[in-house]
Amino acid sequence: DLSLRVPVEGDTEVAELAAAFNRMAERLEAEDRARRQLLADVAHELGHPLSVLRGRLELMQDGIQAPTPEALVTLQDEVVRMSRLIGDLRDLSLADAGALSLRLRPVRLEEVVDPLLANLEPVAAGRRIALERDIAPGLPVLEVDPDRIRQVLVNLLSNALRYTPEGGRVTLRAWQQGSEVRIEVADTGPGIDPADLPHVFERFYRADPARTRSAGGGTGLGLAIARSLVQLHGGRIWAENRPEGGSRFTVALPLPHA
Ligand code: ADP
Repeated sequence: DLSLRVPVEGDTEVAELAAAFNRMAERLEAEDRARRQLLADVAHELGHPLSVLRGRLELMQDGIQAPTPEALVTLQDEVVRMSRLIGDLRDLSLADAGALSLRLRPVRLEEVVDPLLANLEPVAAGRRIALERDIAPGLPVLEVDPDRIRQVLVNLLSNALRYTPEGGRVTLRAWQQGSEVRIEVADTGPGIDPADLPHVFERFYRADPARTRSAGGGTGLGLAIARSLVQLHGGRIWAENRPEGGSRFTVALPLPHA
């Protein structure tokens, strides 16, 4: 506890100054707590794949496990996981520090969405998931960084595909609403527990740690990154459960001033 507090007495200018100082101290303390928590989370998240790697390497060194191609693939999975985590962390810290600069240019949404859906189609087909697209015709041109918007949509779509059981449906819809373009990714998966809904955009938040931390699961940073990137564009992002089941993530991007 830093106890950076000054007693506030009376309503003089000095008291006002003391109150302002106390507010600032509170903010600094909250930031400090968040930074420590992040560091602890990162250590934990990197620790897990590292201990798996270490254990398997020891088994191989002791001759208990042969370094077969299959055994090496599981080692590689952990290395890939760690690289992904580091890449995600870098994006997130750049975005938070305001150091991630957007390369804004006029972009038609289809330009971003169509190649992306084509890439994900085999993944969807492999899980017998229908991947559908419904972009309103004549949508205004956006002023965005297409690589970053692609990254947001990849995160939303790959979550949707990951959490939706075989035979389900994932739909990307886009339309204009007032001075915004809205892009929605809806799925027919299990949806999100109402208790988890307010937290899914937090770093390392996972509604079901046991299921999602297994190999192939995400880093728990995807939605935090998506939110940072959308906010950098001056937009908003939120999650809901659909009344008919499954979840729905919506991105609202401001249209450039005419
Ligand atoms: P992860 O890498 O674990 O997917 P994210 O930040 O992308 O991390 O998502 C955070 C959590 O939100 C997930 O662990 C999962 O519990 C929940 N979540 C995200 N997308 C969906 C979805 N389409 N359906 C159900 N739950 C989801």
